[in-house]
Parts: sequence; C-alpha cells; structure tokens
Amino acid sequence: PSGSEPAAKIVINLERLQQLPAEKAGPLARYAAAIQSQRGDYNGKVLSIRNEDLRSLAIIYDMSPGELSDQLVDWGVLPPEARVARALDE
Ligand code: C2E
Ligand code: C2E
Ligand code: C2E
Repeated sequence: PSGSEPAAKIVINLERLQQLPAEKAGPLARYAAAIQSQRGDYNGKVLSIRNEDLRSLAIIYDMSPGELSDQLVDWGVLPPEARVARALDE
C-alpha cells in the first residue's frame, strides 16, 4: 500500500492480552476493559479500537504510536500487518 492509504484497523487479540504479565500489559488491558464496558461488548476474542485510542495509549506508554504498535506486534497482541501503523508517526 502507498503512503496515502489509511492506517490498518487496530484489532486487539484479547486472549493474548490476558496472557501477558500485568507490568507490561496493565495499562492496555485496563483501557480495553473500559472500552468493552462502554460498548457492552464482553464476549469477543478480539476488540477493534479507534486509531485515536492508539495515540492516547502511546502517550501512556511514553512511545510514539508506531513504536507502540510495533511493541504490540512483538507481544502478539496485534497481527504483523499492524506494523504499517507506523504511518501514524508522520
Ligand atoms: P471485521 O471487522 O473484519 O471483523 C471480523 C470479526 O472479528 C467480527 O465478526 C467479530 O467476530 C470480530 N470482531 C472484530 N472487532 C470486534 C470487536 O470490537 N468486538 C467483538 N466482540 N468482536 C470483534 P462479525 O461480528 O460477524 O462481523 C463481520 C463483519 O461485519 C466485520 O468484519 C465488519 O466488516 C462488519 N461489522 C460488524 N460490526 C461492525 C461495526 O460495528 N461497524 C462496521 N463498520 N462494520 C461492522
Ligand atoms: P460515542 O463516541 O458518542 O459513540 C456513540 C455511538 O456511535 C457508539 O455507541 C457507536 O454505536 C457509534 N460509533 C462511534 N464511532 C464509531 C466507530 O468508529 N465505529 C463504529 N462501528 N461505531 C461508532 P457504542 O459503541 O455503544 O459506544 C458508546 C460510547 O462508548 C461511545 O460514545 C464512546 O464514548 C465510548 N466508546 C466505545 N468504544 C470506544 C472506543 O473504541 N474508544 C473510545 N475512545 N470510546 C469508545
Ligand atoms: P469501523 O466501524 O469500520 O469504522 C472505521 C472508521 O470509520 C473509524 O475508524 C472512523 O474513522 C470512521 N467512523 C465509523 N463510524 C463513525 C462514527 O460514528 N463517527 C465518526 N466520527 N467516525 C466514524 P476508527 O475511529 O479508527 O475506529 C476503528 C474501529 O474501532 C471501528 O471500525 C470500530 O470497529 C471500532 N470502534 C471505534 N469506535 C467505536 C465505538 O464507539 N463503538 C463501537 N462499537 N466500535 C467502535
């Protein structure tokens, strides 16, 4: 995809998230739980979140949005295709 393509949809793997140690995944796990609660969406194995939410989470993790999405890919919480979210850094 070219640089003008929209960033890929952010779909969090909730089962993988639950397996991670709390000191790593804690802020993201609480954020995802809050979104599930606001939507009343409790039964999914995955959760689609807003691009804007990745920016907020990046501030919490003290990273750029691209660095955070790479980190989430490394943890297995996002699929490898999510590395294109680095475009958010621009
Ligand atoms: P998709 O976006 O590719 O999602 C595929 C499947 O992943 C969904 O199948 C659902 O099982 C799961 N999934 C993705 N995001 C979430 C989430 O935030 N919460 C939960 N609980 N599950 C999630 P499903 O539900 O049969 O939907 C099939 C397709 O229908 C979706 O493909 C999407 O293209 C469309 N769709 C469903 N709900 C919405 C929606 O609220 N907005 C939009 N724009 N499309 C939707
Ligand atoms: P809201 O932001 O006022 O959104 C109201 C409703 O508009 C949502 O009700 C949903 O039906 C729809 N909506 C808004 N943006 C989108 C979108 O990008 N895709 C889809 N498929 N629908 C959208 P819902 O889902 O019951 O959420 C209620 C409230 O919970 C939202 O009110 C918002 O305040 C919060 N919320 C839910 N999910 C998220 C999220 O992923 N991120 C953030 N920041 N807030 C969320
Ligand atoms: P989606 O439903 O396929 O929406 C894709 C994009 O269309 C959203 O990306 C957003 O830019 C735009 N969009 C869709 N519905 C609305 C709306 O009601 N108001 C506005 N202002 N824009 C809208 P975004 O924000 O990155 O969200 C990505 C995905 O996260 C959405 O895909 C949806 O699956 C989920 N999502 C985001 N917010 C909500 C929400 O409030 N409730 C629910 N149930 N799902 C949400």
